[in-house]
Formats: sequence, C-alpha cells, structure tokens
Amino acid sequence: MITAQVILKKDREKSVLNRHPWLYSGAISRVEGNPTNGDVVDVWNSRARFVARGIYNDKSQIRVRLLTWNPNDPIDEEFWRRRISRAVVGRLALRQDQNTDAYRLVYSDADGVPGLIADAYGPWLVVQFLSMAVEKHRRIIIDTLRDLGEPQGIFERSDVESREMEGLVPVTGPIWGEVPPDIIEIVENNHTFLVDVKLGHKTGFYLDQRENRQKVSKYFPNKEVLNAFAYTGAFAVYAAHAGATRIVNVDSSEPALLLARQNMSRNGFGDREEDVYAEADVFDLLRAYQEANWKFDVIILDPPKFAHSKRQVEKATHGYKDINLLAMKLLRRGGTLITFSCSGTVSRDLFQKVLFGAAVDAGRTVQIIELLSQGADHPILLTCPETEYLKGFVCRVS
Ligand code: SAH
Repeated sequence: MITAQVILKKDREKSVLNRHPWLYSGAISRVEGNPTNGDVVDVWNSRARFVARGIYNDKSQIRVRLLTWNPNDPIDEEFWRRRISRAVVGRLALRQDQNTDAYRLVYSDADGVPGLIADAYGPWLVVQFLSMAVEKHRRIIIDTLRDLGEPQGIFERSDVESREMEGLVPVTGPIWGEVPPDIIEIVENNHTFLVDVKLGHKTGFYLDQRENRQKVSKYFPNKEVLNAFAYTGAFAVYAAHAGATRIVNVDSSEPALLLARQNMSRNGFGDREEDVYAEADVFDLLRAYQEANWKFDVIILDPPKFAHSKRQVEKATHGYKDINLLAMKLLRRGGTLITFSCSGTVSRDLFQKVLFGAAVDAGRTVQIIELLSQGADHPILLTCPETEYLKGFVCRVS
C-alpha cells in the first residue's frame, strides 16, 4: 500500500516523463502522506495524475529515485529479483568468455537498480549499496545475488562519500558466505591481476577499462609509454605484453604502485629495469618531465573523476585541459595520446572541446583516431545520460 505522494511543480514534469530516474527536490511542489526515508512513494503531476513510483529520501538532493513508470508495478521482493536477474542475464555473453573472470554484474541506474554496484571477481562478489533505495532492500538484494551467482562469498565496499549524501554511514566487510582473501587473483583478457577488494579503489579494480585496454594494445609495440594515473598497472601489463620497451607508471598512491609492480611480476615483467614506478602527482611530474625535455611515444591519461557534480564541471575542464596540454607537449611527433574522462557530468562533446583547446595551445596537430567508452558490463541507459561516464579518445599527435 502506497500512502505517500510526491507532487510535481506544474512545469517540471518533463524529466520524469522522459524516464530520467533522478527526481530532484527542486521539481517538487509538495509531499503528502508523511513518508519516511526509504519508503515507496508515488509521483503525481500537478493535476494529481500518477507519473512514476520510486523511493523517497529527504536527506538526498535526489529526493526520489524513480523505479517504475507503471502504476501496476509494485515495489516488492519480486520487483528487485526481476531487476537484478535482468542485469545478471544481460552479462551472460561476457561470462562465457573463458579469458576473463571479472566483470560488473549490476551497474546501478543503468540496470534500473539505483545505487547498487555488484562486481564479480572470480567466485567472489563485491557490492556497494550507495542509495537509501537499495539500502532499504538489502536483504532481498543479497539473497538474489547469492541465488543467481552462487558466489563463494559476498563482500561489501560501501565505504564511499556518496553514501553520506544519502544520509547513510560508510560500511565495509563480509556480508555473506566465506570471507575473500585480502588479495584476489583475476584473469582479464588472459592477463592476470591481483586485486585488493578490501582496500583498493571502488570495488578493487577498474573493470570498465577492460575492452579499452585490449583495444589500445596495438599502439604499444616497441614504444616508450607513459602510464599516468596507473593505479595497479593494468594498462602497463597490457603494454608490456604488447611489446612496449619502457613503461613509466605514475600514481599518487603507494599501495596501488606496489600492486602494479606485483602485477607486472605476476605477468612475467617484474625484472625490467627500464620501467619506472613513480609515486607522484601527475600534474607536477608531467611539468617536471617537460622541463627535463623527456619525450614519450604513447601517453595514457586515465585520471579519477574530476567533476562530482554539475557545479564542478568548469573546474574539472581546467584540470583535463592542463594534463592533456602537458601530455601533447610530451609526445614525440606522431605519438599517441590515449585520454579519458570518467566524469558523468562532462559530456563527450565537452571533453572533445577541452582537447581542442589543449591542441591549439600546445601548437600540435591532433587527430582523433579512435573513440573509447565503458565496457559492455557498464551499459548506458538512454534515459539517464549520466550513466555514460567513461569517454576516451585515442589521438595521433603530430
Ligand atoms: N588506469 C587505471 C585506473 C586509474 S584510477 C587502471 O586501468 O586500473 C585513477 C588513479 O589516479 C588512482 O589510482 C589514483 O590513486 C590516482 N590519482 C588521483 N589523483 C592523482 C594525481 N593528482 N596524481 C597522480 N595520481 C593520482
């Protein structure tokens, strides 16, 4: 029984009708029925007509996470089971790939399960509950994930800031089955990686770059590569396998670089004296390399999210411009820039404009030769453009 209604302002219906899953507080005229956070509410337009149903949370700017636009769709256990099964079934093709055993099973809004991330690392599942909507239904969600995937254990990594914006405290630890070891070994496109699922970034590994790492491997043979924002060296391992002569890994995180070294060793490239693991700020180090007149054949820029909200977009573009400008200057003529933005609020178009500005300022001729995006296990929901967060360009810099 739904007893509470959220009534929209007169001219603010459009985004709901367009099935965007985030209903912001600014679009709401009033709330009736006194819902508590986590309750299911119906969303009505200003003429008291049903438009959508979702989960209420007055702690969040996203006041209602919309789940269905069908008035006959109750938000019960069956609903969550259906949504999660649909997501898991959508990954069947990936799961048949014998060369990879780590991929995302559920990707939040893009899979209609707002705030839930579930990543499979071999037999282990690592999950994040990032919204009140899924926090409230965690039991049925965990049961469903257990029944569908039959994992050896499920570990929670809800230790992220965005939980605070939902009025939730950070949580981490085992939630079902056996406790995974501190370091898990996974296989991605036949390369082996050690993943720290308990303390690593996100759920431990940047699964979204799997296809891109494979695609860009053709640019590495006989090249000197700068792997900026290297994390645990995933791109470096592909570069080494592809025949890069020297790989300079830069990251500000010491534990990440330690694991990067171990990952290189694990793949048979541990004793390459020419490789570098530099614990440094990329902005500073690229400047230092420029002053020292160092040059590279290939530069990978895979920075963290610079814009966490629309308000931060402008500042973020300055950051993107800065590193891309520096990278273009550090490339030998005919070199390859592999550059990414993972900010959901920075569109591909805007990112391309930033690269344009950098190219002009660098005085280099830059051609886009390949467009990159997030992997197939990170689908893009057409009605929620923010789910398209990872944008990449491969550029030839002359
Ligand atoms: N390319 C990696 C993922 C990079 S994630 C992969 O494929 O696995 C972004 C990385 O940037 C993180 O490891 C983080 O520690 C690092 N980082 C963030 N800000 C940085 C800075 N200013 N300088 C250097 N590294 C930074």
